[in-house]
Amino acid sequence: MKTQIKDKWSEIITYLRDTYLINGVIFRTWIEPLEFVSCENGTVIVSIDQDKQGDILNLIDKKYRLPLQISIEVITGFEVNVIFQYKNDIEKKGVSSYINEDQIFQKYPFLSREHSFDNFVVSGTNNIAYAAALAVAENPHGQVYNPLFLYSGPGLGKTHLMHSIARYIIENNPKLQVLYTTSEDFTNNVVEAIRTGKVDDTATANMRKKYRTVDVLLIDDIQFIIGKPGTQAEFFHTFEALYQSGKQLVISSDRPPNQMEELDMRYRSRFNSGMTIDIQPPDFETSMAILKNKQANDKTNALSDEILEYIASNVKSNIRDLEGAYKKVTLFSRLAKPGEEITLAVAENALKDFISPDEEITITADYIIEVVTDHFHLDKDSLLSDKKTRNLTYPRQICMYLCDELTNLTQTEIATKLRRNNHTTVIHGVNKIKKALLEDNELVATIDILKKKLTP
Ligand code: ADP
Ligand code: MG
Repeated sequence: MKTQIKDKWSEIITYLRDTYLINGVIFRTWIEPLEFVSCENGTVIVSIDQDKQGDILNLIDKKYRLPLQISIEVITGFEVNVIFQYKNDIEKKGVSSYINEDQIFQKYPFLSREHSFDNFVVSGTNNIAYAAALAVAENPHGQVYNPLFLYSGPGLGKTHLMHSIARYIIENNPKLQVLYTTSEDFTNNVVEAIRTGKVDDTATANMRKKYRTVDVLLIDDIQFIIGKPGTQAEFFHTFEALYQSGKQLVISSDRPPNQMEELDMRYRSRFNSGMTIDIQPPDFETSMAILKNKQANDKTNALSDEILEYIASNVKSNIRDLEGAYKKVTLFSRLAKPGEEITLAVAENALKDFISPDEEITITADYIIEVVTDHFHLDKDSLLSDKKTRNLTYPRQICMYLCDELTNLTQTEIATKLRRNNHTTVIHGVNKIKKALLEDNELVATIDILKKKLTP
């Protein structure tokens, strides 16, 4: 297999070019220099020349991995998995390390190649979460923190840490059964089991077996389960079953357990019984460290410190946006002529849709409605309807209060936005929340979270 692929390499590359219509420049700069390095157990390692212009490996991987696999199969008849690596790295790490690593990813499709403890930048805003995650990864038997409950706004590293924990345990404790799942997948599984369960009871049994026989369960974005009664109940049974038998649980959410208004006290305290930790938005130093780390990983220094500082001091909301901004500028730098450094002006231009440094974000009533409905898992039509159940009046009054606090709208305008007939309804709602804020700590915290979501 190895020699056949090696011998036919140029034929494979030509087939790739012709079938996928790769144009001349791209072909000569990227594809032609690809070299076959080795093939073991169906994994083919292909080397890429070092590149000064940035993240070329990821790009080639995304665009050409599958076409190359297909080309190899068509020309040689072998079904393989291709891994691209930089030549220098292969010399340093040796081929076999890539093959072992690759087998892990094939066996555990939920893992991500991009997320590990090694490339998580630790700083003052996330060091406690990092330390707790690492402690659990090192002692995965439910004895240190169980459950470990991580919460934060979006894009701050929860999923990255959960993948890191899973990967660490899989690599260091291969006997343990580890399962990472998103609450979306969990919900789909439950719904599917209930649907097919009507004709076939084994569906539910299989679903339960899948989740209840693991040693470590990591469940991401639990807030999407809360409020869906059937799934929620199934999840708590799973939680209890695992917890009682000393299995490790790791949960992430957009808010701490005591802010999950819809949730029974019993479960809130259950979630809180291990270790609950938040991750804060990055400060300037953290953002700079993350950007520098990205450049180091991409093996480039195409962007000057001045440009990195510009990005770090303007994209503050979260790390996902920070990475998006970095990618966009890198793309611009790749379009520059070889050897030409891009200037701050080019970076500013590249990011003009991302950031407008001197403009304050204006908060609109619509935006408030969107954030509040999302927070309480409601749909907009119910919130704006005439129904007067408490699960609707309360969020509605919170909307009134936030519109009154954070926008310049008059009470009549707020009434119109919230489809109330009369501005006195708004006055009443705002006062009610103001009064409750004096004695209800939970409400204080809810308003605090909502304000943070509105003005990150
Ligand atoms: P969340 O799950 O909290 O929404 P993610 O874990 O998906 O956030 O993180 C968003 C992006 O930011 C990912 O690409 C992740 O790798 C990156 N990221 C977050 N925190 C860090 C960190 N401390 N160091 C390096 N990358 C990070
Ligand atoms: Mg996430």
